[in-house]
Amino acid sequence: MDFDYTTEQQNFRLKTRAWLESTAAELFNDLVDSSQTTIESLLYTHDEDVWRRMLEYHRRLHAAGYLALHWPKQWGGAGAGVVEQSIYQDEVLRLGLPLYGANNFAIDRIGPTIMMLGTEQQKQRYLQPMLTGEEIWCQGYSEPNAGSDLAGLKTHAVPDGDSFVVTGQKVWTSNAHHAQFQVLLVRTDSSVPKHRGISYLLVDLRSPGITVRPLKQITGEMGFNEVFYDGVRVPRSNLVGRMNEGWQVSIATLMYQRASGGVRHPVERTIAELVDLVKSIEFERVPAAEHPYVRQKLAQFASDARCLRLGRYRAMTAQLKHRTPGPESSIGKLMATELNLRLAMFADEILGPYAALENGSMAAVAGGKWTSRTIAAREFTIAGGTSEIQRNIIGERVLGLPKG
Ligand SMILES: Cc1cc2nc3c(=O)[nH]c(=O)nc-3n(C[C@H](O)[C@H](O)[C@H](O)COP(=O)(O)OP(=O)(O)OC[C@H]3O[C@@H](n4cnc5c(N)ncnc54)[C@H](O)[C@@H]3O)c2cc1C
Repeated sequence: MDFDYTTEQQNFRLKTRAWLESTAAELFNDLVDSSQTTIESLLYTHDEDVWRRMLEYHRRLHAAGYLALHWPKQWGGAGAGVVEQSIYQDEVLRLGLPLYGANNFAIDRIGPTIMMLGTEQQKQRYLQPMLTGEEIWCQGYSEPNAGSDLAGLKTHAVPDGDSFVVTGQKVWTSNAHHAQFQVLLVRTDSSVPKHRGISYLLVDLRSPGITVRPLKQITGEMGFNEVFYDGVRVPRSNLVGRMNEGWQVSIATLMYQRASGGVRHPVERTIAELVDLVKSIEFERVPAAEHPYVRQKLAQFASDARCLRLGRYRAMTAQLKHRTPGPESSIGKLMATELNLRLAMFADEILGPYAALENGSMAAVAGGKWTSRTIAAREFTIAGGTSEIQRNIIGERVLGLPKG
């Protein structure tokens, strides 16, 4: 078996790298210097100028043909092969850029769900503006009492003529402050077991009766929101799948989400930064890079990151064969987010008391970026289904263990 890239593939890598580097430098360089963060983390900004740049990046990514490599050509994607996709992912992660421009929810999970289960009219109406960035999407699943137990959701929709009338509340809705559209899970029948009475709607967030309220996180950012629905009318033509059978549709979206959750963390980039860090500090009174414990940990991280990369390629191959990602997408999501957390915790450990110093503090190491990462890393082990839930899925649906 030949694992080497062909000359053509190597040229694609060089071209992609050059394009990403120059575009990112032109649009974002000053931001990364000052915020000491990745460009990907700027996706949820409330700063209008940063968001405008993110939209511009999205438009350029689409015009250059990189935005939706995995979408079929019929719907405006590139229909690219696994090698091109993996090269693009590697290069994006190397620079800490967002994979899908400003519209990650649309390109990685909602668009593919509509392609698979939407009506022809929905495909014609919604897919193209996702690509151009004219319509940004978010995902309305979680509620104050329905997170891990998502099927317990209470926001309800009542059919009325050619509309549904929606009333209730969602929470933790990432990017609702930028979005024009949302996929929304609603209860349409309370008299049947909870998984059976749910429907999946496409909702225009500009409809009368919708209020979006940002929530402030421990990091100081406001990436997600509460969304309130007060008698909101949604056309019946915006139902995806059949009424009361939205659970299956919602699972398809979640599988795509988890498959991409294994991709978004630039762990190899973080490991390279950790290697630089250990060359510049001491740990237990010896140069950290010479300390056996530090070296063992870094080697373990590097092996884990390589396994993750190979798992990423494998998931991509399955998608290219037009298989919806299955429960195994939980493995990538779990591994990536837990590794990302372990890297942050390790930086915390070797920095000792310096780890407590934030950006702006005189003695903060690397502008306090490791501190911000430690605070932020745990959120990814929760979003998209917690690590405990992923382990339950792997235990029950991949390994075939009895239900816990
Ligand atoms: C950064 C971020 C972004 C998010 N973005 C969105 C978004 O855009 N849209 C959206 O709809 N939601 C979003 N969420 C919400 C996310 O999906 C939920 O937070 C998550 O599903 C967990 O639900 P919960 O917060 O209600 O916790 P709970 O479900 O109350 O869980 C609390 C704890 O109990 C554990 N637990 C619960 N049930 C079990 C079980 N059966 N077995 C073992 N352990 C269990 C959990 O693992 C967790 O540790 C986001 C969350 C975060 C952190």
